[in-house]
Amino acid sequence: MDYQEMHHQLHGSGDVIVPPPVRSTSLTTATNIVNPVVNDNPVMSSAMQVLDQLSSVGKALPFVAPAFVILKIIIDMERRAQDVDAKCNDLLERITFMLSHMPVLLKIEIMAPTRKVIDRINETMKDAASLIAAYRKQNRVVRRLSISNREKFMTCAEDVNSCCRDLLMSLQIHQSIQLDILTRKVPLDEDDEAAETFVAKHGGSVDAVMHDRELVKEFAEQRHFVMDDSVMEQLSTNIADSVQQNHIRLEGILRDNVQSSIVDGLKSLAAEMLAAEAEQKFTCVQCDTQFTNYTNGPKACSFHRAEYDSWTKHFPCCSAAPPCEFGTHRAKHHCDYPYGKFFPRSRGVLGYVDTMEEWSSVEDTNLENDEVQKASVSKLLRWVSRGDRLQENTLLITVGRAWYKNPYYFNTFTAKEMETITKSVRLSRRTLIFRTAPNDNEFAMAEWILSISGKITGVRIAAKAATSTNPYIRVCPIDLSTCTKSGDILTLSEGGMRSYLPASPYVLLPPLRIGPVLSDEPARPVRTNFKTRTSPALRVILKTMSDPPLTANPEFANGRCDYYRGTVSVFNNNAPGSLNPVTIAGVSAAYRMVGNAEYAPVEQCKVLNGTDSALPVTIEPRQAWQLAFEVAVPRTPADAALDVRWWNRAFGPRHRPVRIRITLEDIEGEECTLVLEHVFKPYPLTKRKDDDLAFVFFDDPNVLARRGVHVQPCTSEGEVIVIGGTTLNTKRLEKTVYQALKSGKTEVDLAIGRTMSGAEGTWEWAAWALIDISCRRVYAFKIIVQEGKDAPVQRFGAVEYVLCPAYGDTVNKPRPVSYATETARLPPLEAYTLPEYPQDDALDDFKPPVPPKPATPVIEAAGLASTLAMSAGPVPVELTNRLASIDANLARIAAALEKLVTAAPSTKS
Ligand SMILES: [Zn+2]
Ligand SMILES: [Zn+2]
Repeated sequence: MDYQEMHHQLHGSGDVIVPPPVRSTSLTTATNIVNPVVNDNPVMSSAMQVLDQLSSVGKALPFVAPAFVILKIIIDMERRAQDVDAKCNDLLERITFMLSHMPVLLKIEIMAPTRKVIDRINETMKDAASLIAAYRKQNRVVRRLSISNREKFMTCAEDVNSCCRDLLMSLQIHQSIQLDILTRKVPLDEDDEAAETFVAKHGGSVDAVMHDRELVKEFAEQRHFVMDDSVMEQLSTNIADSVQQNHIRLEGILRDNVQSSIVDGLKSLAAEMLAAEAEQKFTCVQCDTQFTNYTNGPKACSFHRAEYDSWTKHFPCCSAAPPCEFGTHRAKHHCDYPYGKFFPRSRGVLGYVDTMEEWSSVEDTNLENDEVQKASVSKLLRWVSRGDRLQENTLLITVGRAWYKNPYYFNTFTAKEMETITKSVRLSRRTLIFRTAPNDNEFAMAEWILSISGKITGVRIAAKAATSTNPYIRVCPIDLSTCTKSGDILTLSEGGMRSYLPASPYVLLPPLRIGPVLSDEPARPVRTNFKTRTSPALRVILKTMSDPPLTANPEFANGRCDYYRGTVSVFNNNAPGSLNPVTIAGVSAAYRMVGNAEYAPVEQCKVLNGTDSALPVTIEPRQAWQLAFEVAVPRTPADAALDVRWWNRAFGPRHRPVRIRITLEDIEGEECTLVLEHVFKPYPLTKRKDDDLAFVFFDDPNVLARRGVHVQPCTSEGEVIVIGGTTLNTKRLEKTVYQALKSGKTEVDLAIGRTMSGAEGTWEWAAWALIDISCRRVYAFKIIVQEGKDAPVQRFGAVEYVLCPAYGDTVNKPRPVSYATETARLPPLEAYTLPEYPQDDALDDFKPPVPPKPATPVIEAAGLASTLAMSAGPVPVELTNRLASIDANLARIAAALEKLVTAAPSTKS
């Protein structure tokens, strides 16, 4: 079988599709050659030629077959490898040279010593194949840093050399020219040299470097290698174990398969040796795609540094859809550099309370730019809130804020992992876990604490913002063997903005209010004791039926006038049966503010019961008619200019009551009137609440409004006070103090004030923090409320001081108090005297005269009686009664007249 045929059987049989190997060489700097042809490596091509020749030897001499099979395995491994390696090449070259002499065996009689040499060759080749397999399995970083690898290759090369010499001797071949291959040294390539230099630079101990993740990472970066968690794992496992395992495996494969493999062209054999590793699938944590070690490479993975923002619908790292980063696929999550998928994972832990048990943390905020420096040590309980609890004790260390733009650290450690780290730290004394920035002015960091014997005994975390004098430093003691907190947290330094205890209480100015304080009670009760005024010819009584008599703006509100509604009962007061119906033909109204002498016409007067055509209305004697009406009373031009719309309140009569005179006119033009009154009922005024620390206000008497700001305490942690709805927290006050310390300005406008505007005019408020520079704290707030800047004249306002509640961290040391230098005050105000408004007058107080005797003339009645008497026929009973009553009246009148006539002296005489 020639090589092409074998190659075809190995790779081209259809069921296994082998992608072309991606080769990169560390000898020439990282060039990717996508080329399956072996010709680019002369060592490989000559090895294949030798293999080709050997296939016939193997068939003829079965005891040579293992060497032939192993060479095939080595060639396959090397072909699959991603990079050409000088040491592997060297070993393959030596083996190829050795085996190239095998065809001679076909021409000679094989004696026992030769058989022995062949057996040794087979053994040596097993070793070589096992070594190459173990070496190739190693990560590139590990391969270089495991400096002892080279010794293994040297030993192996030595064995090959010695076998080769023996073979040449037994075949009686004397080659003087090519012997340099047996005498030359195992090569040292650029990366091996770099590794040796690196180790030498860091103390010379390979062990110290191998266990120090940061050092390994540094080396990987320096050589542009991929660094991931498998690196540290591989570094701590011994390659000798791996070689040993491979050896055993190889022997098994050879024992079971040599015969058949020669027949089958090695297909299953080589596949078995290689398949497991080459085809193992991983899922990349950065891009979510599946990969194998074979398909992975320096640019295989593309991803975004930041997480997709579903709100703004883009990746904040680059604002573009195509990934902005390229790298190697990674099978395990890491914090070596930012990638989008990392952040939901860290947030899933840090954002919940049931995911971890925080042992200690430090945090400091820059009081100028709000940048936060922080670090923490916790026990990780679960990766996802409400998820399964971790079985193993796991330490979680975080430094900095996990965000794609800034440096951060978020890593976990089990007891076993801590053990590995201890080894490295003990040797290297490199205790730093992570630090966000090298400068001492602003940073966050975490580091291991070692005992004298070099054992990890705890974690020290520190954070400092540039605006703080000292850093926060805490130590969390850790028990290495159990990975648990082993004692109380030690605080070594307190950072942040710390205030001092004031040596004496602060004395504040009393509150000041300029302007009247209004009442929200009506000036007096509504008067309802107005009497009907009418003419004798129109015998009606008017009576208010609604309570209150007038309702203001129940349905409409209008800036120019006020609407009033009421109901009046109109009673026909003529005698029963008097046949004197009253017919109301018109309703009108006039109004007057109490204190004014004259009534003025209203803007509109409407009868509400029925349509306007309801009039005229006829009311029978002793009957009543309900009149529901609405009148519109115009406002004064000044009031109308304010355009105030109040519902259920009238704006016009807010200072003095209004009276409305309703006039009814009958069909003959006779009129009767009734006066109704409306007394303004103010809106309730805002008052100081029970839990208010202060309520700073002034009243505007013109529009009867109270302008005020509540100052309330806070109960939530970190919050200090609420002024006018704005919550001030400790951080905010610390920033204010920092600002004051820097600028020397001890009165700082908190910039939370507002200008409020509405129909009733504008007003504004503002609040200042007063800072005690000696005790480094805000000691009080000054709140000023005043009329708006656009008010024609400034007349009202108030100033009040409120003590600041205790907040933040305090140094337990008293210092003398120092008061702020204040400049903010009320503007100059114009004096204001509340006008005296008349609340009542007697203009509508009218006593109706004693009603005159019924106007029915006696003569007429007598005439009627006589007419009735003269008529024949029966008289109805009712009429008879009425006549009797009239008769009685007439008799009384006649008697009276007689008395009058006799008593009076005769004027005629
Ligand atoms: Zn991006
Ligand atoms: Zn990937």
